[in-house]
Amino acid sequence: MKRMVVLGAGESGTGAAILALTKGYQVFVSDSGSIKPEYKHLLDSRHIRWEEGGHTLPEILNADEVVKSPGIPDTAPVVVSLREKNIPVISEIEFAARYTNAKMICITGSNGKTTTTSLLFDMLRRAGLDVGLAGNIGNSLALQVAQNDHAYYVIELSSFQLDNMYDFRADIAILLNITPDHLDRYDYVFQHYVDAKFRITRNQTPKEAFIYWSEDPVIDREIARIQPRATLYPFGSKREHNMAYTDGEHLIVAAPQAVEPLDIPFEQLALQGQHNRLNSMAASLAAQILHLSNEHIRNSLEQFAGVAHRLQYVATVNGVRYINDSKATNVNSCWYALEAMTGETVLILGGKDKGNDYSEIDELVLQKCKTLIFLGIDNAKLEQHFGALGYSTEAEADRRMVSTHNLYDAVMAAHDAAHEGDTVLLSPCCASFDLFTSYEDRGNQFMNIVRHL
Ligand code: ADP
Repeated sequence: MKRMVVLGAGESGTGAAILALTKGYQVFVSDSGSIKPEYKHLLDSRHIRWEEGGHTLPEILNADEVVKSPGIPDTAPVVVSLREKNIPVISEIEFAARYTNAKMICITGSNGKTTTTSLLFDMLRRAGLDVGLAGNIGNSLALQVAQNDHAYYVIELSSFQLDNMYDFRADIAILLNITPDHLDRYDYVFQHYVDAKFRITRNQTPKEAFIYWSEDPVIDREIARIQPRATLYPFGSKREHNMAYTDGEHLIVAAPQAVEPLDIPFEQLALQGQHNRLNSMAASLAAQILHLSNEHIRNSLEQFAGVAHRLQYVATVNGVRYINDSKATNVNSCWYALEAMTGETVLILGGKDKGNDYSEIDELVLQKCKTLIFLGIDNAKLEQHFGALGYSTEAEADRRMVSTHNLYDAVMAAHDAAHEGDTVLLSPCCASFDLFTSYEDRGNQFMNIVRHL
């Protein structure tokens, strides 16, 4: 009997363990932290052995194969030991894909993955296809393959998941953009992160599709260098050679598979902002490749409810709109959030800095924000950067910055600073772990405070 060890018992690890069991493996699950009660229950109910709070190496180093949670870095001693013994380490997606014939539509990028994945899933569901949502969202692919396999999967893939993919082939791959993120996991070498993202095209042939944002300089450069074998479906703001593009007021999607181009005015799109137009183009191209009717695609583009914590409208208080963009955990996503703002904006930002360069948002901040509210345990870097840009802590200053260390104070400061017609935007540029358990926690707390104003 083959022996499978699963490292990390979260959603993907538990799913992989259950799938491995149904495929006849002897399974052992090991987690260096604590395992959530619901996952323990799932494992116990199937008599799958597990441990938490550490790794028992003799139990792990005799595996035939290991499925590793994307959260565990390659530098973790247990992974180093596995490599030394040449034991294959794969991702849960790689493992699960061996056991399904479903069409795989995979989405990656530095920003916009969840939005695009959810939008495309919505399109396929509206069209009546038997489709599952997997990857970073929803149930794990492995659990669905084990219990309730589908004909199509829309899968959100992070660079960490792609790192451990080898034989996997995406029928349709979408690469939204590449900007520096997670460099701490890539030896601070941007190219390593770029290489991980491009693994999404691995094993593709001309029968498969590669949809990508053609105006991203990094993607453009890499395509010229790597020359992916897949059939290419570029999209971008201008027509040029793009299969989806804008004409200033309309979004046009024209994959060769479509009977006729889809044409939709910007104001009818449910997801607003330049970045969401790009996300909408990518999802619509995939839908046309899968022969969905323009009517289904249009319905979804017009009615899609959006995803929580991504430019999520919260409430209007005294004529001030409050927007929760807590998922903006890097500078680039905050840039797009600011770009989507139409009037004067009070920006709340700060948190756990991942080596951020804030100069990327300088221009938009100067253009749109009279007041900046910093929210973090340590705001020194923000104060220094935006102080140099002309913001001052003086109460009477034209461009003000206010330092706070908890969300309640931050919202109150924003409330004081905003005037009728303004927007208060929480788009932190930073991870949340200094003051919150997650970006969801940060966004939920923000919405709660705003709703009680
Ligand atoms: P991901 O899953 O890649 O983290 P999300 O869809 O959750 O992306 O969006 C995260 C943040 O990134 C949002 O708050 C939004 O402001 C921003 N964003 C969304 N789509 C894009 C895009 N195509 N380009 C740049 N930023 C984006």
